[in-house]
Amino acid sequence: MRPTGKLHLGHLAGALGNWSALQDDYDCFYFVADWHALTSDYADTSAVVANAYDNAADWIAAGIDPERSTIFIQSLVPEHAELFLLLSMPIPVPWLERVPTYKEQQEALKEKDLSTFGFLGYPLLQTSDVTMYDARFVPVGDDQVAHLELAREVVRRFNNFFGDVLVEPQPLLSRISRLPGLDGGKKMSKSIGNTIHLSDDADTVKRKVMSMYTDPKRVRADIPGTVEGNPVFLYHDAFNPDAAEVDDLKTRYRAGKVGDVEVKTKLAKALNARLDPIRARRADLLEDPSTVRDILMEGSRKARGIAEETMERVRTAVKLKY
Ligand code: AMP
Repeated sequence: MRPTGKLHLGHLAGALGNWSALQDDYDCFYFVADWHALTSDYADTSAVVANAYDNAADWIAAGIDPERSTIFIQSLVPEHAELFLLLSMPIPVPWLERVPTYKEQQEALKEKDLSTFGFLGYPLLQTSDVTMYDARFVPVGDDQVAHLELAREVVRRFNNFFGDVLVEPQPLLSRISRLPGLDGGKKMSKSIGNTIHLSDDADTVKRKVMSMYTDPKRVRADIPGTVEGNPVFLYHDAFNPDAAEVDDLKTRYRAGKVGDVEVKTKLAKALNARLDPIRARRADLLEDPSTVRDILMEGSRKARGIAEETMERVRTAVKLKY
């Protein structure tokens, strides 16, 4: 995850919830992709480090367990840059130009000049991030599937030249790969400002939920409403563990027998119940600012040990052993 701002419910639904669960079955590596933040935000890097600590605190508060998973900072494992460089040698530039997000993001972020080498190369840097740890699976949202497809092609081409040295990664899709924004926009996203932050207090969450977009055709509570695609119900599905309550609200909403206020009040309650323990753990963690830093330093040291072994294997494969 890139340290580009505060984490929100989209990160919880699309990434962190899934990441926590995976710890039961896999040896997991989660990292703060600070170099990736620079691929689009190179003009002002002043907030990257503060965001890195803040995001890592949210991860741990949301259940990523540093005892079970390796949590690290990308730039503290400089081997990622070395592998990226070696990967870049046999990879044709058009492969990178064809990645859908390349043109899409250039269009979407016109105020930033993304005609840079760093931005073009970022899926290749991701390939390095993933293959460094022989990752078989990468938990991603649907926005990242094309990048993993590229990663597999890169691995095949690299292995074709240098022998069977890197492992092909597969995507592990999260159940909710795109949580819509409060405004009903197709994605909750910091750049749109339609977010509920994991660090928002209970009153802020309630206020934001009460302002949410619902079915625009439903101007009165006694008019039957549409549940499908309605963000308030998508959030209920994602965050309200009381399935009977959600079913009842949906039935009455379809029948024009419940007001938006009740639907939203129950949603705010469910969200706050989900966020309360995260807020409490976050506050505990941040009591001593060195705690998160120490976890990241220790994780980065551990990751670096593995990265160094991988690079020995890669250097041998490309016959650059002195
Ligand atoms: P970003 O902060 O936009 O770079 O997002 C990092 C990762 O968090 C993405 O690759 C997604 O897996 C997840 N994510 C971010 N926003 C959302 C969202 N609105 N819905 C689902 N997942 C999201």
